[in-house]
Amino acid sequence: MNKEEAKKRIQYLSDELNNHNHKYYVLSQPSISDKEYDDLLKELIDLESSFPEFLDINSPSQRVGSKLPSSADTVIHRAKMYSLDNTYSVDELKAWDQRVLKGLNAKICEYTVELKIDGISASLTYENGGFILGATRGDGASGENVTNNLRTVRSIPLKLKKKRPALLPAVLDVRGEVYMNRKDFDSLNKNRKKEGQDIFANPRNATSGSVKLLDSRVTSQRKLNYFIHSYGVIEGGPECNSQWEFFKLAKDWGFSVQDTSRLCKNIDEVIKYCIEFQQKRDGLPYEVDGVVIKVNSFLGQQKLGETLKSPRWAVAYKFPAFQATTRVDKIVIQVGRTGVLTPVAELEPVECAGVVISRATLHNFDEVERLKIKQGDRVLIERAGDVIPKIVKVVESKEVGSKEIFKAPVTCPECGSKVVKLKDNVALKCINPRCSKKLERSILHFASRGAMDIEGMGEAVVNQLLDESKLEDISDIYFLKREDLLALELFKDKRADNLIDAIAKSKKQPLSRVLFGFGIPNIGEKAALTLAENFADIDSLINADMSDLESIHEIGSVMAESVVEYFKQETVKRTIAKLKEAGLKMTEPKKKQGLKIFENKRFVFTGELKTFTRSSAGSLVKEMGGSVVSTVSKNTDFIVIGDSPGSKYKKALELNIKIIDEKQFREMLNA
Ligand code: NAD
Repeated sequence: MNKEEAKKRIQYLSDELNNHNHKYYVLSQPSISDKEYDDLLKELIDLESSFPEFLDINSPSQRVGSKLPSSADTVIHRAKMYSLDNTYSVDELKAWDQRVLKGLNAKICEYTVELKIDGISASLTYENGGFILGATRGDGASGENVTNNLRTVRSIPLKLKKKRPALLPAVLDVRGEVYMNRKDFDSLNKNRKKEGQDIFANPRNATSGSVKLLDSRVTSQRKLNYFIHSYGVIEGGPECNSQWEFFKLAKDWGFSVQDTSRLCKNIDEVIKYCIEFQQKRDGLPYEVDGVVIKVNSFLGQQKLGETLKSPRWAVAYKFPAFQATTRVDKIVIQVGRTGVLTPVAELEPVECAGVVISRATLHNFDEVERLKIKQGDRVLIERAGDVIPKIVKVVESKEVGSKEIFKAPVTCPECGSKVVKLKDNVALKCINPRCSKKLERSILHFASRGAMDIEGMGEAVVNQLLDESKLEDISDIYFLKREDLLALELFKDKRADNLIDAIAKSKKQPLSRVLFGFGIPNIGEKAALTLAENFADIDSLINADMSDLESIHEIGSVMAESVVEYFKQETVKRTIAKLKEAGLKMTEPKKKQGLKIFENKRFVFTGELKTFTRSSAGSLVKEMGGSVVSTVSKNTDFIVIGDSPGSKYKKALELNIKIIDEKQFREMLNA
């Protein structure tokens, strides 16, 4: 890049960053993700260091936060409030440690580590132990006076504890973070959604909006918390020589200090902490975007000093971001096996916490309406744990004519028949029993692992068989011949034989699997098993009435009605007759005597199992008298881990759940 280009780019980046700072800090409504902001800032810093002649003292790389709105009641901070430099990898962290050691002329340095809870920075001033002033960080030199709002935060002491009265400072100015727990954020957004108000993109924005509200009665309802992480001024009071000592004092004064903080002997212990909490982050009650590492000794801190923007004695280690922004290429509608129409956004692929995202569900058409989303819009997406990515909000709306506004369909996009909106339900549904997409989805579900487990009956095969009119109903699977398969493009001898074998093998599946495979509304895997255990064969279940069904403990009236209505249908009767003709027994084997070790025990599976399918392992647990649950909680008894276990494994570690591998699981079964 030549000088002229660099100058232009620096100007462009500075303008962009200033604009985003205003949206983020003043309006609490960012329009790009933090990762994108950090990338722009990094580009600016790199360019300014290559072309120092264009470095302006007012550049966003040199300033903390953003200018305050002119309407703000301003407070000049007694000591400047800084931001933090970021590191994104262990190598960057080690390089920072080297800079610290060089600055201190030392071989080793003791550090404190704390979680970087994602909230907003606030300073609190106490005179003779009484809270007199609360302010936001603002541009670091001055912030907004938010005393009245901060008074409503229960974890902020209004009077310092007089544990050791003689040691109370005459003036104390502490710094900490105001934040909101995830569950309080979710319920705040839920209420806002109900009332048609804009939702907040994340707990940080919700906190920022809440702290700056004009009415502190509203702030008091927002369930904010505060933890302390440093100080600006201590006049009088006890001696304090290190960050770790400061935490102890702060606790004595009645402040909330993170109990996850740790004193580390060296950078290796710091790295261990960072990795540990990167794994634990999903299970924490609040959002954490990294770890803050500080030189423990205050003398060391003084020696290293600060840049215009941040201290040299502290740094943030940032975790991968869960949010990203991208553009909506197209909104498509998916038809599920029950006929429910789901709008799905196809996205310009974007990386989010290490995964490339190109689709996100929009759930239903009410959600599309609420988001006012259109093709071409820029949206903020979020990925939490293993959950399907969701669209949080539109951050930049494309100007379009009214024609391009996305409207809920009146007909099924697959078969063209009219769709209906079900009573008490936001979903639109295609009720045409012959809809080809519904048929495709229901066959795929019937053949899936948790149901009849027909290996080789995947999407491509089912689609070709449908195109060739070889399947009109799930029961047709059992009348497929080898020649039918060989006539398809996809098949050679071996593959055809394998599929025919898998189909034949599936005839022996117990009634519970068949019932689950039918996809009866409201009947999932567990309810299917309960029904099968209570009726033993398909005919007794078909003949059961509402009261027979409702007399079963786990079957409620909605499920019972679903079952009765399902078996009333002529098409279903024909399908079952054909399944019988094909040789399916549709009976449930008697429950084996449960093994003590399994009885009433809750199992969770995570990761890829080598010698079991998930569903066969699950069936074995159930046969032995245990149950399988999908999420880890303190009520889980065992977690069975396969290869590459996910966040459930991390949670199990935290909760001290008994962890076993596949081999140990097999040994338990053989016991
Ligand atoms: P920051 O939030 O990355 O880090 C500094 C702040 O961390 C401190 O001021 C303090 O409030 C907080 N903190 C939390 N825990 C702490 C602890 N234990 N010890 C010390 N401090 C702790 O920095 P910032 O200057 O507030 O914001 C910059 C970041 O904000 C950017 O890197 C970017 O990710 C985001 N941002 C995003 C946009 C956007 O448009 N999306 C705009 C501006 C800033």
